[in-house]
Amino acid sequence: MKSTAESSSGMGMGSPAGSSPLASVGRTARLAAISAVTNYKPSNPPMNFMETPTQNLFCANVFHKREMKERLPKNVYKSVIKTIEEGTKLDPETADVVAAAMKDWAMEKGATHYAHVFYPLTGFTAEKHDSFFTPTGEGTAIAEFSGSQLIQGEPDGSSFPTGGIRQTFEARGYTIWDVTSPAYILENDNGTTLCIPTAFVSWTGEALDKKTPVLRSMQALNKHAQRILKLFGHSDGALVSSTAGPEQEYFLIDRNFFFARPDLINAGRTLFGAKPPKGQEFDDHYFGAIPERVLAFMFEVERELFKLGIPVKTRHNEVAPGQYEIAPIFESANIATDHQQMMMLTLRKVAEKYGMSCLTHEKPFAGVNGSGKHVNWSLGSKSQGNLLDPGDTPHENAQFLVFCAAVIRAVHKYQGLLRSVVASASNDHRLGANEAPPAIISIFLGDQLTDVFEQIKAGGANSSIPRGTLTVGVDTLPPLPKDAGDRNRTSPFAFTGNRFEFRAVGSNQSIAGPLVAMNTIVAESLDYCATKLEEATGGDPAKLNESLQKLLTQIVAEHGSIIFNGDGYSEAWHKEAAERGLLNLKTTADALPALKEPAVEELFKKYEVLSPRELESRLEIYLEQYCKSVQVEANLSLEIARTMIFPAVVRYQNELASTCANLKFLGYEFDTDTLDKITTLVKGLQDSSTALENILKSHSGTDLQAEAEFIRDTVIPAMDAIRVYADELENLVADDLWPLPTYQEMLFIR
Ligand code: ADP
Ligand code: MG
Repeated sequence: MKSTAESSSGMGMGSPAGSSPLASVGRTARLAAISAVTNYKPSNPPMNFMETPTQNLFCANVFHKREMKERLPKNVYKSVIKTIEEGTKLDPETADVVAAAMKDWAMEKGATHYAHVFYPLTGFTAEKHDSFFTPTGEGTAIAEFSGSQLIQGEPDGSSFPTGGIRQTFEARGYTIWDVTSPAYILENDNGTTLCIPTAFVSWTGEALDKKTPVLRSMQALNKHAQRILKLFGHSDGALVSSTAGPEQEYFLIDRNFFFARPDLINAGRTLFGAKPPKGQEFDDHYFGAIPERVLAFMFEVERELFKLGIPVKTRHNEVAPGQYEIAPIFESANIATDHQQMMMLTLRKVAEKYGMSCLTHEKPFAGVNGSGKHVNWSLGSKSQGNLLDPGDTPHENAQFLVFCAAVIRAVHKYQGLLRSVVASASNDHRLGANEAPPAIISIFLGDQLTDVFEQIKAGGANSSIPRGTLTVGVDTLPPLPKDAGDRNRTSPFAFTGNRFEFRAVGSNQSIAGPLVAMNTIVAESLDYCATKLEEATGGDPAKLNESLQKLLTQIVAEHGSIIFNGDGYSEAWHKEAAERGLLNLKTTADALPALKEPAVEELFKKYEVLSPRELESRLEIYLEQYCKSVQVEANLSLEIARTMIFPAVVRYQNELASTCANLKFLGYEFDTDTLDKITTLVKGLQDSSTALENILKSHSGTDLQAEAEFIRDTVIPAMDAIRVYADELENLVADDLWPLPTYQEMLFIR
């Protein structure tokens, strides 16, 4: 744990030389933190945003098309664009030329190094930096960057999780340039680096990363979407790409509080903390005015993201105090995934500059709303536009209905898979907790589409409920076109006008896993639909309508039970979902085994997204991550309970006890209620700590699934038991002795 002196003086607000900062501000790290926070002054000068307006910064640090067009010979440029836009193979000769141009561009921007950036299965971003410079042997150095250096790198990736794909002695792993995701410059006060997004694979060509399966799944989706489009007479071959727009929720707290909480530092969430007297019950934070310091942070985040070509659009306060959201405009799934990773890094980096910590954990504060990352998903092509756009009269839009029905079928058929790709120890705190969608996967379609599909089921759709206009009853307010359906916050998978929004995704997660799952299951469904329709029409377009009607009716009959427009938080839904036979996989330990199911294995194998071995390795890694992160939390719980909370409590107990004894000696009456209560709770704190310690000691599992279940059933309840005593004590012990910044302080003081 960081000492108080460091954390407060680190902000440039230390006490006068010579005296201990503790002496001047209080007895605990917590009180020192409060003092530092209330004395916060920005250390960096304000940005001169008029000098370079933010809009002029867009893509300033990206080697994008415009830059390539200027710097590359025409034929090379064309070849690269063809790869990016049409998904064709890259011609290796072009790599040398691109590398040279990229290096010149990067060096003009001050770069001395290049880095292959990759996305290992930890869910984080990894980079290996190499210098451009090679010594000539004559006391000088020349800058070099060849096509092969651009295309391939070889980080010694032996420490990245591989889930048994590779033994540690088989350390070879390769990074391979992803031409479709543009290279960019990463700035630092002391230098800049050229960053090249790459895929990361083993010596045997197996995917060790999150990017490779995204690219493979996009390829599968394109292939089968093309077949459907062809049936509708569109055979221009324009690449069908899946698109994604993730909405990122996060918390900001002052860094001084962060450093006074070992649980936040090490686990990303608070393991203790009594409910504050004022929480979010007034809903006064949601979309409220953004605090000045936070707004300053957001402006800077947006400038940084703009430079990286990330089209951030929306910012607002979220439901909980101290919680915010940022959302970019949607992009191709692969690029959106890379950008999403950069966005999380940028949020953290800029927060530090403003003396804050950005918490992306799904549930940093128990009892307060958690954070998700809604992933908006669709598919489309340059020539056809968004394939999930229903238009004004969806009942007449047969092509849309096929794509939409394919999604319905996919989500119903692979609900377990969709649940498993959002499973993590941290997201378990959020899903099903009356603030986030339940662990039951269902689809919200809205009134208009539900009605159309009902009609289809009954034999044929002849009408669409009109959108209408919204009138407010005030003459000066213009009438508005009304959306075809209202929203439903409680649905894990909602149709929102022209896309689906997967809301169960956790705020700290890479969006790669959810996108791989959606792309692949929809590819499978489109394959199914295309095959049925191709067979039924036998190439005769005149038979399309009739075959379609049959297919859609059958899909709604078989898979319509996944559609639910009601309140997903309600008890009644849990009951009804069970009656409908929908899965309710409550925790990670319940959800991850879905990855082992034969149907899931077959799915990924058939569409060449993940081999059985690659899939198995993922299951192993995710189980291990679950176990490890809860174990860290359990150890932290013990440490904090024993070295921070217990000492504070006994000091207070001692004060109280001696007061009681003294008063009694002097013949006064003194109520010992508080002392009695504290004494009982201290005993509970000690006993529950010992119980957890014994549980942790006693168990050494070999089978990961059994271990995960043990953690779910035994370790987590034991941790929760300690917390109950600690949180009650927080409300009894003298404020000046309490060691941990409270919820109240972290969420409201800034
Ligand atoms: P809301 O709060 O209503 O859900 P936001 O504006 O915060 O909406 O976010 C909506 C997200 O959906 C944005 O990232 C937006 O770009 C994205 N989006 C819109 N159209 C598509 C599409 N066709 N495919 C994927 N994402 C989309
Ligand atoms: Mg949303």
